[in-house]
Amino acid sequence: MIPNTFDYHAPKTLARALALLKQHGRKDVKVLAGGHSLFPLMKLRLASPRVVVDLGRIPGLNAIKESKGKITIGAMVTHYDVESSDLLRKLCPLLPETAGEIGDVQVRNRGTIGGSLAHADPAGDWPAAILALDAELEVSGPSRKRTIKAANFFVDLLTTALKKSEILTQIRVPAAPARSGSAYVKMHQSASGFAIVGVAAQVALNPDGTVAAAAVGITGVSSVPFRARASEEALLGRRPDEATLRAASDLAADGVEEFQEDLHASGDYRRHLTKVFAHRALAKAVSRIASP
Ligand SMILES: Cc1cc2nc3c(=O)[nH]c(=O)nc-3n(C[C@H](O)[C@H](O)[C@H](O)COP(=O)(O)OP(=O)(O)OC[C@H]3O[C@@H](n4cnc5c(N)ncnc54)[C@H](O)[C@@H]3O)c2cc1C
Repeated sequence: MIPNTFDYHAPKTLARALALLKQHGRKDVKVLAGGHSLFPLMKLRLASPRVVVDLGRIPGLNAIKESKGKITIGAMVTHYDVESSDLLRKLCPLLPETAGEIGDVQVRNRGTIGGSLAHADPAGDWPAAILALDAELEVSGPSRKRTIKAANFFVDLLTTALKKSEILTQIRVPAAPARSGSAYVKMHQSASGFAIVGVAAQVALNPDGTVAAAAVGITGVSSVPFRARASEEALLGRRPDEATLRAASDLAADGVEEFQEDLHASGDYRRHLTKVFAHRALAKAVSRIASP
């Protein structure tokens, strides 16, 4: 329960943090955000970095801003910051709702959206919403910045497209479209609160009441979070009545080759829950669409 010794750095600029990653690249170096995933791993000695670079003193990584319909969230924004943001409640309510479902109040006060995405826990909540919103993740490396689309970010269990020399700096999402509704629903693992299944849905309607756009992001059930494309396609151009929502939800597990199996839920049970929670998320999202 005591981590190996390590050198601790708290740089005051992003450039210095990146330089430290480069300088210590050959040793095991880790970036520190909220520490809620990294420290438990270090205490269990599942991770033993020799150098830890704390992002907590770098200005500008903890802001939530909006410009021309695009919302930018700094990587060091905590789950609670998102949950309590009036700007997000108004422009992108899916994010505060998702944040409010994470762990407990201590976890939400320390854990960050960037740390959670970079950690890529298969039971983490953020990936479902980030995928459903087609977010863009801005990453800084030693010589350049790049943008990774959410669909390309999650590579495998605890593995993302981030390189060791890179830092995730911002997450960009569009404001919710007109005449749309969204919802995040999950089955909690009762001890930790992590998602056994978590489904984020956003549905937008055409003026005639048919579905103009649908997005369903799913986490918790497989090693990598995913979009339920078959469900989305089954909704497009149709009226989102109960029969249509039910038929679309029944397709939510299509294409998943392997479901997670653990003491909390079997693979078959997770497959079943995927459809049940897809239906709940879609029905809730549709019920929230304001009448014209
Ligand atoms: C009791 C408990 C319950 C929890 N319940 C839930 C839950 O219900 N749902 C849920 O989603 N999560 C849950 N979590 C996890 C929590 O949300 C963590 O905060 C999150 O997974 C990691 O975020 P962090 O800011 O603490 O990152 P850290 O632990 O500091 O870092 C995690 C990893 O990401 C890397 N990293 C961090 N920031 C960056 C960055 N900007 N760029 C590149 N790499 C970076 C670190 O090097 C490390 O490898 C729980 C945690 C605990 C302890």
